[in-house]
Amino acid sequence: MNGLLMDVKRMAVHDGPGLRTTLFFKGCPLSCRWCHNPEGQSVKPEVAFFGNKCIGCGRCRAACPHRMADSEPCVGCGRCASACLTGARKLYGREIALDEALQIALEDRIFYGDTGGVTLSGGEPLMQAAFAAALLEALRERGVRTAVDTCGHAPWKAFEETMPFCDLYLFDVKHMDSEKHRQATGQGNELILENLTRLAERGASIQIRIPLIPAFNDDKENLRRTGAFLRSIRPEKIKLLPYHDAARVKYRALGKADTMPARPDDMAIRLNRALALLEGMNLPVYCD
Ligand code: SF4
Ligand code: SF4
Repeated sequence: MNGLLMDVKRMAVHDGPGLRTTLFFKGCPLSCRWCHNPEGQSVKPEVAFFGNKCIGCGRCRAACPHRMADSEPCVGCGRCASACLTGARKLYGREIALDEALQIALEDRIFYGDTGGVTLSGGEPLMQAAFAAALLEALRERGVRTAVDTCGHAPWKAFEETMPFCDLYLFDVKHMDSEKHRQATGQGNELILENLTRLAERGASIQIRIPLIPAFNDDKENLRRTGAFLRSIRPEKIKLLPYHDAARVKYRALGKADTMPARPDDMAIRLNRALALLEGMNLPVYCD
């Protein structure tokens, strides 16, 4: 069985408890305007070009099977990225066998200790649910703790497949108004909230993540509605992720339209306001 991965992060400290290895799956059903991993949205391999690193040596063109001719579309083979010595061309997306993914995930096992483990993230790992479930099962069999970082927009079957082998879901909640959710992410929120409710009803361990996007979801009304909904879910923790626009360079490198909002100067104030409001609702909210 093969999966499509776009990256691996070792010694990760923000993708669940303890020290973790995070495997980033490629492909996402949402297209959030503020997405920090735009390279994770397409289900196909893509090559990004970081012009500031290019020295004009021409090795990429020479390696390309069709010499990068405009008349022939890029097939995402990655030969140009392999030939580039400066990192100006980078391939996102590589097909990988289950055994190899398992080997990568186990490499740093010694550092996981009592709390760490392996997190499947993306993109959206549940778009490759069968591969994700098989990898989680193999990790569990070896005594490794597992987590899935999900946007929640997946068929319920994907949760059923992964739940027996997943110790923790890191679950994103973005907006309580479905139409606003659709305008900003391409999809309504009904399936996401339904999946979250069902996961909670089945007793899954859940930590919520709220990307705090200025002028989108950080107003009092939405935060109050979010807090009221989350009280019924009873998550272990709620983490606020303050917006930043560091990923803007990746949009340019991928040739995608830059949809990221500007980062306001008062982001810290907005964050503290949101923290105080949700704390005031007796929710286990934090930011690190
Ligand atoms: S191989 Fe890399 S450095 Fe050389 S021209 Fe291509 S992108 Fe630029
Ligand atoms: S990914 Fe392959 S087809 Fe696309 S530009 Fe690079 S070498 Fe050419």
